[in-house]
Amino acid sequence: MGRKERSLLIIKPDAVKRNLVGKILAQVENAGFKILDLKMLKIKKDKAQRFYGVHNGKPFYKELVNYISSGSIIPILLEKENAISDLRELIGNTDPAKAAPDTIRRNFALSITENSVHASDSKKTFEFESKFFFNRKKQ
Ligand code: ATP
Ligand code: MG
Repeated sequence: MGRKERSLLIIKPDAVKRNLVGKILAQVENAGFKILDLKMLKIKKDKAQRFYGVHNGKPFYKELVNYISSGSIIPILLEKENAISDLRELIGNTDPAKAAPDTIRRNFALSITENSVHASDSKKTFEFESKFFFNRKKQ
């Protein structure tokens, strides 16, 4: 048994608007992830710009910031062995057309922008991103 690890999943506005929260959470729980915490909120543009700061200057940056601040999102703190890489595998390719069968993005996403979920891509990214939404360390 490996050591448990945490990751951050965010259900994005397109999925919340289309009532896919339950289906996405079911897929996440069925894949063995434990939900440690979750909340629903909206983020303003300045926070979205900081959250996606790594993409500042890319052609899709403005669209991405506008989109993620366009409606309610659901950040979810998850735990599992190998949570970070397993969650990336579960969500699938950024572009739903390229995502493997039965990944969350293949199942639910509309486009490369409206791609239903976000997941931290490294331990360092998780530490940075989780602070935006969860301030206490859960045991
Ligand atoms: P996320 O960070 O949301 O989990 P990702 O890690 O698969 O997605 P990134 O490269 O980090 O992909 O890009 C962040 C987000 O920016 C993507 O989820 C997508 O919505 C948007 N994005 C990335 N590449 C493009 C692109 N070529 N055109 C439009 N939007 C893009
Ligand atoms: Mg990313």
